[in-house]
Amino acid sequence: MTATAPATAPATGVQQVETVAVTRIGSLTAHDAGQRGSIGVVTFPADEVGPEDVRITVAYAAICGSDPHLAEGFFGTEVPIGLGHEISGVVAELGSGVRRTDLRVGDRVSGNFVRFCGACQPCQDGRQQFCTNLHEYNRPGMARSVVWHESQVYRLPDSVSLLTGCLLEPTSVAVRIADKTRIRPGDRVAVCGGGPIGQLTLQLMQRYGATALTLIEPIAERRDLARRFGARHVIDPNSESLTERSREITAGAGFDVVIDASGSRHAVAGLLDLAAPGGTVVYGAMYPEEYVLPLNLSDYLYRKELTLTGVFVSPYTFPRAVRLLEELDLEPFLQSVYDLEDAAEAFETHLGGAHPKVVIRCNRLPEDPEIGPGQA
Ligand SMILES: [Zn+2]
Ligand SMILES: [Zn+2]
Repeated sequence: MTATAPATAPATGVQQVETVAVTRIGSLTAHDAGQRGSIGVVTFPADEVGPEDVRITVAYAAICGSDPHLAEGFFGTEVPIGLGHEISGVVAELGSGVRRTDLRVGDRVSGNFVRFCGACQPCQDGRQQFCTNLHEYNRPGMARSVVWHESQVYRLPDSVSLLTGCLLEPTSVAVRIADKTRIRPGDRVAVCGGGPIGQLTLQLMQRYGATALTLIEPIAERRDLARRFGARHVIDPNSESLTERSREITAGAGFDVVIDASGSRHAVAGLLDLAAPGGTVVYGAMYPEEYVLPLNLSDYLYRKELTLTGVFVSPYTFPRAVRLLEELDLEPFLQSVYDLEDAAEAFETHLGGAHPKVVIRCNRLPEDPEIGPGQA
């Protein structure tokens, strides 16, 4: 493949695939350049399209808050590590044994980066997130093309642009978080962390009939965005007392549902105190592996009967997330778009934090007229 994007879906028999990858392990924000991780475009041999597989010409791939963790070596340290699990694109090739009758070459799609095998015990037991074959098809999608199993592919509704379609996976995470809250209409809800997952979850909570809906977030722009998405209150944890403000907002009762979408050890420390007796606390992020949360069992589980839970991947959420793409306010997440060859710069913008989401255009596809303001 050449460095310029093809005008149409590439022909079958793709040999080499340009892919955004971690090229050196290290924190992307390390002050010492010698220690800093790096992101670049590398060429991987193309995966073959097996009988049940689908090759997707990727249109857009969004940068996820978890991607910099991969640069830090969270899932392994052997570089290059291909990135990208939030994608949209167009079907370029179908395997000879694909059973889906609703998929054709040229269809606009998004998908789930993990494949649930359907055959193992957890899959058979309604817990596909613990599928024992989960990683087999977890292939990087921040690339010119990607090959996934037919069961990982979801067609986009006609009204959803390819640009919007790359938000399917983060939307599925928000749906999963919402599932785990077991919210009742009228429940008082606080969300900690105003990144994309926090903001999408906030939108869902608002639709569920949450009251006292509150975002806890130190960055002012993100607090403003939350207000647009239905937050009644915002708290800046750097300048306000979390406990005092929470008491004020809930008339002393606490929140029935507290959601962490920050993944920050500083942010999660005080969250249990914000929960009302009988409340649910969902830890909806990735956390530093060595971090241990102190937990007073007498206070929080005996006296307050709190339910603490988390999310790993997003089982049974994608069909609902596809429909929600038509309903949610997603435009603020699609304001910063970079071409694949500018991936390193895109990651810098992501880390700068000014944009709630940064998207990489992996191919310029004629199916998607310029939607949104385009180039960053
Ligand atoms: Zn993600
Ligand atoms: Zn399985």
